[in-house]
Amino acid sequence: MAQKTVLVTGGAGFLGSLLCERLLERGCRVLCVDNFLTGARQNVAHLLPNRNFELMKHDICLPLSAQVDEIFNLACPASPVHYQDDPIRTMKTNVLGALNMLGLAKRVNAKILQASTSEIYGDPLVHPQTEDYWGHVNPIGLRACYDEGKRCAETLFYDFQRQHGLNIRVARIFNTYGPYMHPEDGRVVSNFITQALKKQDITIYGNGQQTRSFCYRDDLVEGLLRLMDAPDFVCMPINMGNPNEFTIQELAQLVIGATKSSSKLINLPLPTDDPKKRQPDIGLAIKYLDWSPKVQLKEGLGNTIAYFRDILTNEAAV
Ligand code: NAD
Ligand code: UDP
Ligand code: UDP
Repeated sequence: MAQKTVLVTGGAGFLGSLLCERLLERGCRVLCVDNFLTGARQNVAHLLPNRNFELMKHDICLPLSAQVDEIFNLACPASPVHYQDDPIRTMKTNVLGALNMLGLAKRVNAKILQASTSEIYGDPLVHPQTEDYWGHVNPIGLRACYDEGKRCAETLFYDFQRQHGLNIRVARIFNTYGPYMHPEDGRVVSNFITQALKKQDITIYGNGQQTRSFCYRDDLVEGLLRLMDAPDFVCMPINMGNPNEFTIQELAQLVIGATKSSSKLINLPLPTDDPKKRQPDIGLAIKYLDWSPKVQLKEGLGNTIAYFRDILTNEAAV
């Protein structure tokens, strides 16, 4: 079979970097495009010597020309702290970025996958969330630049499919964690681990009774690859995440236990519109992709803690 060329936008980010690695292992040529807003060249430094790997600094809000067979559109800050830092830029990345990548896919006849999110369900009134749930989203709140931006991107994907016959895939990704998260990323798993390792207070927002379901990075990336490879009728949005649900309080206790930290738990105000519970129904992923996550939270946290320990030790040595 001819060698495939695959474009990964946001390829220098937490998920994108592992996706690039897996694609190279499969023998693909990989074009990694990133503006390094929340990702870093360092995340893909180990891939640079590979002659099938090319790294390009580019903002997907601008048009891009490239000859590719497949596009994974992952570019967008994913942590609430970062996506709310410049909400207009987040919206542009979600909407103009998706439009440009769809325009490119149309011109070169490439298959294209969108990294969508459980946030499109907002603060859900249906539990667990199934793909046919339309969501409960505040269109003018602080999270809207991300939630509504991702919803608009999904609309564009389905309009390009209907209007131009594009071969599209949409993965609705639920909270994913693991090695290569940035220590300053601001999301809950990286915050709790860095706080525990530095013996700082663990910051629980609200009463800690809100829930999330945490998926390990390697499992998630395997799901994205399977979705891209799936038969063409698998073009409905597919939830991807680990259905095991934890309260944020439980997560804090697991992190304290695994790090043997003396950190105290403290409560800070709950951010506005913070979803109260979240759990994916992954029936469609099991049925159509034969995919379900393999790594459970305790094991995944262990690997992630080891990764952060190394980073913090290296930082201390500098
Ligand atoms: P990340 O912030 O580590 O990665 C995003 C990458 O996109 C970064 O490398 C960043 O520099 C790049 N980027 C941002 N704006 C860009 C632009 N305009 N042009 C080019 N590059 C740009 O986050 P992640 O966790 O790896 O998330 C990857 C994708 O998956 C995102 O689209 C995110 O919305 C989605 N997602 C992630 C999760 C999760 O829990 N990790 C959950 C739901 C959805
Ligand atoms: N686009 C791109 N690369 C391409 C083809 C298109 O970035 O190879 C962009 C293009 O600049 C436009 C968007 O994708 O902003 C949508 O393209 P389309 O052809 O659908 O729109 P049109 O140019 O007809 O408005
Ligand atoms: N959270 C917390 N402490 C932190 C960071 C986050 O209690 O230091 C909570 C946050 O309020 C939310 C959950 O953890 O209820 C997950 O937050 P995250 O930012 O990781 O992602 P979200 O799922 O909200 O996009």
